[in-house]
Amino acid sequence: GWLDGYSAVVTGAGSGLGKAIVGRFLTEGANVVAFDKSGEKLSALKTHHGDAVETVTGDVRSIEDNKRACERAIEKFGKLDTFVGNAGLWDFNRTLTDTPSELLEAGFDELFGVNVKGYVLGAKAAIPALQASGGSIVLTLSNASFFSGGGGGPLYVASKHAGVGLVKQLAYELAPRVRVNAVAPGGMDTDLRGPDALGLSNTAIGQAFPIGEVMKQRSALHFEPAPEDYVAAYVLLAAKSQSRTVTGSVFDVSSFGTPTRPSGG
Ligand code: NAD
Repeated sequence: GWLDGYSAVVTGAGSGLGKAIVGRFLTEGANVVAFDKSGEKLSALKTHHGDAVETVTGDVRSIEDNKRACERAIEKFGKLDTFVGNAGLWDFNRTLTDTPSELLEAGFDELFGVNVKGYVLGAKAAIPALQASGGSIVLTLSNASFFSGGGGGPLYVASKHAGVGLVKQLAYELAPRVRVNAVAPGGMDTDLRGPDALGLSNTAIGQAFPIGEVMKQRSALHFEPAPEDYVAAYVLLAAKSQSRTVTGSVFDVSSFGTPTRPSGG
């Protein structure tokens, strides 16, 4: 595979896109440290995949937990080639107007804590090992990194735009040894939750929102993607043999940049 002998850390690996990335990375020949806050999801993943997967339960908002995940990769697999920052929270399209002001500070801090600080701390923890291996960082962004009016409310859209800045600046800082890129997927029915501080942690995106229908109608390609449909882009960007010229780029695999046209034409 394109990732034969690679050692990777994937955050938010317990479900949805992160779980699909883990599965595909293993198929491509990598060993993976799966990092998530849910120990329950991680033990299911471990049972399914066995020795090629190590699990670390922790919070991406903690530098110590990020360091533990990277150290585990080195302990078990001898090095770290790829850090995939992927854990995220959504805001369920909650508008600023409709967000009670007494919840706003904590809601902002929680969402930005995971979506932005989580990526900064993950990169910080991974840098020494990636400099040693000549490896790379791949972050999960979103159609909400480029467009308003569908991907989320202001907190989520701002957090995913912030990710674009982080990719560009870290690509500059870490060149030429370490590449930094991102994948911007569109909607999918996963276990994606929102900030507890906004009362949005008890429902998953697919339960609260007709995400499948939205993708069928609003994406130019008129179908509902599964997480597995997005993961090849991560393999491409992680594999140095396939993308050694690529850094500072965000691969938009969402199809939201193309306006929809009536089907059947
Ligand atoms: P998901 O909830 O199924 O997966 C995210 C995982 O992150 C969960 O297992 C969760 O336990 C974990 N997590 C959340 N907070 C954490 C924390 N503080 N520390 C450690 N782990 C934590 O959702 P998903 O849809 O697979 O989301 C993955 C990424 O995809 C996110 O960055 C999200 O913004 C992005 N994305 C999702 C969609 C969509 O429609 N689902 C669209 C575009 C982008």
